[in-house]
Amino acid sequence: MGNFEDSRSVVRRTRLARSASRPLVTPLEPSVVYTTESPDELDAIYEGRVPGHTYAREGHPNADVLAAKIDWLEGAEDGLLTGSGMAALSAILMGVLIEGDHVIGGNQLYGRSMRMLRQELPRMGFGVSLADPTDPQSIADAIRPETRMIVVETVSNPTLRVADIPAIAEIAAREEVLLVVDNTFTTPRAFRPFEHGADILFHSVTKLLAGHSDATLGYVAARDPELRGEIRDTATTWGFTPSPYDCWLAERGLHSFALRYDRAQENAAELAEFLDSLDGVKEVIYPGLMRHPDHARANRLFAGMFGNIVSFRVPGGREVANRLVRAAGNIAFAPTLGDVATTLSHPASSSHRGLRPAERDALGMTEGFFRISVGIEDIELLKAEFEAAIGAALSTEAPAQESSGQD
Ligand SMILES: *Cc1c(COP(=O)(O)O)cnc(C)c1O
Repeated sequence: MGNFEDSRSVVRRTRLARSASRPLVTPLEPSVVYTTESPDELDAIYEGRVPGHTYAREGHPNADVLAAKIDWLEGAEDGLLTGSGMAALSAILMGVLIEGDHVIGGNQLYGRSMRMLRQELPRMGFGVSLADPTDPQSIADAIRPETRMIVVETVSNPTLRVADIPAIAEIAAREEVLLVVDNTFTTPRAFRPFEHGADILFHSVTKLLAGHSDATLGYVAARDPELRGEIRDTATTWGFTPSPYDCWLAERGLHSFALRYDRAQENAAELAEFLDSLDGVKEVIYPGLMRHPDHARANRLFAGMFGNIVSFRVPGGREVANRLVRAAGNIAFAPTLGDVATTLSHPASSSHRGLRPAERDALGMTEGFFRISVGIEDIELLKAEFEAAIGAALSTEAPAQESSGQD
């Protein structure tokens, strides 16, 4: 075996002793590189004749373990982990698009996805149009001969509009265009895009799947094996690699995913009703509420699973918003979603800060507009905290005119 097992050097690695027992917990394997017995053995690995890893950018055990679990949840095969949700989208775009291609994106995508479509793709010479995914006709109207893919989210942030994915899938199939679905908000617990005609799906695993705000990861799956291979190869070449540590943490998070999702959703439904009953709250948005414009579609597509995100609006400008956040001091004010604990975010100062006040107002995102990512806490605690925070925000000032502040 030569130097590899030379016990006279503390510098060289020592093999773990053979053991009749195995660790219960998936080992964390941070190794960047893998040793093999011989060039013949390495050939066998590269040619896929025997299983094995070579170099961590090309794949590693912690990513494999996590991918297999998300595959199972999504009814997908051979999914790929990436270093972030944005890396997952990048792998899809860079792996599939060729010069001259045109992409149709949903008109209310996640902020960075929107930036990818509006700034990065045109910079590289790709054509991009935006269309309304709740209105399949607007997608059909945007199709051009060179359209290669449609990118939509199941539920838009933070206005929680529900895309008509089955109708868009029909258009995509007819026009021979790929349908790419970002399933971050709904998760496979509520919606499995491949069962509704999507060709490619992706996730920000960072959010609900990992669930503890301590791992940044993405996931991609494609139905067509050839496309899958191209996306994987592109991700390896561009270096969209996930960290073993993050995969290991996310696997641990995933163990409780179904329990967390169900509890958070139950809380969200009850909190939505409660906010609706409070004096001073002007609007509550939750797909589970009967009056939500897409309630019927959400009911049909998500089988009664309306998710853990609730948005609401109180009257007033930035002062009221500041007071509400300060008065809700035990609820983290943080621009993310899907944590075990409830987090509160304010689109006007975070995800939608790039818009002019009038544009935000047109979308209903006034200074008093908030999004809650509901966690798994005791619901009575959440109700009491929100009641107190909203009361404190509105009490010292008579409900002012709706305003987006001065800037
Ligand atoms: C957060 C998020 C992303 C981006 O994921 P990262 O892991 O932050 O890169 C994409 N889409 C949606 C819907 C998200 O919420």
